[in-house]
Amino acid sequence: MEDFRLLVNECLREVLTAGVTSHRRISRYARMRALETRVTGGIGLAASQIALSLAAGHRRRLRQGIARRTPYVRTPFVRVPAKCFHFDLDTGKLRLSLRRGEWTSFTIPVSNYHRQVLSQLDHRVTQVHIGLHRVVVIYAKTPEEPYAPTSLVALDTNESSLDGVRVTSEGATFVRVLFPEVREIQARHFGRRRYLGRKKAHDRRVSRLLLSREGWRERHRVRSQLHNITRSIIDRLATDHSALALEDLTGMSGPRRRVGGSRSHSVPRSRVLRRRLSSWPRSELHRQLAYKAQDRGVPVLWLSPYRTSRTCPRCGEVSEHRRRVGTRFDCAKCGWSLDRQLNAGLNLGVTALRRTAGLGGLRLDPDALLDDVVRPLYPTGNDRWARVERTGREAISSGTPPNGSAPD
Ligand SMILES: [Zn+2]
Repeated sequence: MEDFRLLVNECLREVLTAGVTSHRRISRYARMRALETRVTGGIGLAASQIALSLAAGHRRRLRQGIARRTPYVRTPFVRVPAKCFHFDLDTGKLRLSLRRGEWTSFTIPVSNYHRQVLSQLDHRVTQVHIGLHRVVVIYAKTPEEPYAPTSLVALDTNESSLDGVRVTSEGATFVRVLFPEVREIQARHFGRRRYLGRKKAHDRRVSRLLLSREGWRERHRVRSQLHNITRSIIDRLATDHSALALEDLTGMSGPRRRVGGSRSHSVPRSRVLRRRLSSWPRSELHRQLAYKAQDRGVPVLWLSPYRTSRTCPRCGEVSEHRRRVGTRFDCAKCGWSLDRQLNAGLNLGVTALRRTAGLGGLRLDPDALLDDVVRPLYPTGNDRWARVERTGREAISSGTPPNGSAPD
């Protein structure tokens, strides 16, 4: 692993100093260095690929003007490509080719879940990543072909809910997915970090250690909650043969830019609100939805979020910026009035149906929706999952299995 780390760094230096961007040139260099250090050629190639991608990231950051230190790999690890190892799923024995004529093997614990996932026919193990504390088996899968949808769910992403409409051939209903837990977890950890920061203010080293640990816990817990939510949503969509419409947030890079971009109406945001918005894991939510949808063959439509929150779905009137502030959307022209978050979701639904010919059979009439009944998208039973917030000293909960906790 130490050799591999050095090899990556050597390639990285070569890439950055010589300005190499092509795979071929760096792999020639890597093969030469691998020969000199007697490392298996395939592993040398893997090192060069990693160096190349690290360098690409570094160049991109330089272009964007984010000053960063030159990348340098400090933690020993090794990435072994397919030809250089043999993995036996039944016994968990992993055999690696290290140098010419030198092999090593060790056994990794394989659970039934691993066996079930890896034994599926279209899953091919392509790489093994070995770090100091873990072994990661990387597999590739050919994604399922998206099915032809018979209904549509359009969801607007909000801070603690996804709101929108579900359109089927029988009609349309408002739907909502609530996840207040995520914010509770974040608030809890924020409070704890602040407490730790005060308590350990005299010792920078300890405080930094404890604070970063808190950060990890928070991210893990939030992520695991989001996994529960996205899995339920995609399950429901796949059984209903629905398509999913979401806002395309790429290029916005988080809510921070939005605040800067729409300065014209400059609603002053408090420090507390700014912190809440920037810690909001919106892109993680979308990332999970996107890859799970692809995995299950759920077609996803990405729509521009431009004006969704201030357009009237009935008459198309775009209201002034200022009107965004309230919790309701009121149209000055035709008198349409609706919860602002649902309204944005409804607009996404209208646009999605207008855009796609494949959903032509479906119809969305805002007036037919006026009954204002909001349904949860899947049977709510948050208590099914790991418990949410209770008392202190419970940050480990992200690993709690379902039903692992007694109800309060
Ligand atoms: Zn209107």
